[in-house]
Amino acid sequence: MSDTIQPIRGMNDVLPEDSAAWQQLERVARETFAEYGYREVRLPLLERTELFKRSIGEFTDIVEKEMYTFEDRGGDSVTLRPEATASIVRACISNGLLHNQRQKVWCMGPMFRYERPQKGRYRQFHQIDVEALGYPGPDVDAEIILISSRIWRRLGLSGLQLNLNSLGTPESRRDYRARLVGYFQAHLAELDDDSRRRLDGNPLRILDSKNPAMAPVIAGAPLLTDHLDPESATHFAALRSHLDAAGIRYVLNPRLVRGLDYYSRTVFEWVTTDLGSQDAVCSGGRYDGLIAQLGGEPAPAIGWALGEERIVELMRLQKLAVADDRPEVYVVLAGAAAEALGLELAERLRDALPGLRVETNCGGGSFKSQLKRADRSGARYAVIVGENEAARRVAALKPLREEAGQREVALAAVGEELKQVLRPAAA
Ligand code: ATP
Ligand code: MG
Repeated sequence: MSDTIQPIRGMNDVLPEDSAAWQQLERVARETFAEYGYREVRLPLLERTELFKRSIGEFTDIVEKEMYTFEDRGGDSVTLRPEATASIVRACISNGLLHNQRQKVWCMGPMFRYERPQKGRYRQFHQIDVEALGYPGPDVDAEIILISSRIWRRLGLSGLQLNLNSLGTPESRRDYRARLVGYFQAHLAELDDDSRRRLDGNPLRILDSKNPAMAPVIAGAPLLTDHLDPESATHFAALRSHLDAAGIRYVLNPRLVRGLDYYSRTVFEWVTTDLGSQDAVCSGGRYDGLIAQLGGEPAPAIGWALGEERIVELMRLQKLAVADDRPEVYVVLAGAAAEALGLELAERLRDALPGLRVETNCGGGSFKSQLKRADRSGARYAVIVGENEAARRVAALKPLREEAGQREVALAAVGEELKQVLRPAAA
């Protein structure tokens, strides 16, 4: 016997039992984006490595140690996308979509990061991503936050908190950066190795450290929000008043810097206390310099990404109702004559009741075993056709979830009967 092949660590299968929640999240997101005038883009999973190095930044966790990078057969260095923003900007530039135009777009799909797998942190995970390119804000900053908030509301999620900060412009950050380096140099002994390494490359990233031992020294660091340039301060105040007017609550978090290099001004993160240390479910920010940095004409932009695994887990923990995807009707067919009728009968039922979920017993089996399958399928009704019924052109309609007896119905009337019992409002 040969050994079975194991899946790759940190990469999950989504099984039939779980896919309804995923579909619900994705359906709600799609519908919400459409309601705000955002349109879908579908992009390659593989890009030139250079794209991520130039956008995400050399001194980030992602580029330093998390990318799936390899040489393809032609000798080019390619990388499985670790996030979507860089690809979206690349796609907008390479397709000329920002030439005298602005874009409101979204996409969803798998991302890849070589992280240490644990609950809520995987090596292949899925994001839903939304971006508004060419918009200076702060109106659009508020709009994309409203989109996220509406998605939580439509899913029925509760207990999410919005953390908000402004990083100012790269120029104003330069002053602050010098102050911060001065502070950390004075506290060199308290820094861990990662942070020491970042002191030269990107000291702001030290504020993002997840090492609890670093918390006290970070708590004493000077605050970026105390050194905002006037225009960023005005932008930030206007965003806050848009959010206030919309009734969106937020917590100002002056230490929120986010893990990527390209952010400027608005940054935010939705967090929950229900998921342990993997507490961020959706994060984003403004990246006014990125389009130019990747070779496009300078244009401001903002976006966010949510982690589907974490949202689906929250939906499960909060026991949110998920649309049932199990069959409603199971067609039991005993004997050759009935089997010959079966597929056609099921097709007629689907014609009569669009959207009706009908499972036909395929592959035969005894009457008893078919009824067992019908029961296990979750269906509410079994439609039973045996030799005898087939000869008389009737079927037996058997309720599976209540103590009612079965009754006989003419084959031609089964659709109408099922409509009465399963879709009374529409009948
Ligand atoms: P974290 O701080 O948890 O590492 P991040 O700042 O790296 O998150 P982003 O790059 O902003 O995350 O990605 C947006 C969202 O994608 C996160 O808020 C999170 O919900 C999800 N996410 C990020 N990395 C992973 C992962 N390895 N596994 C599952 N979900 C992830
Ligand atoms: Mg991360």
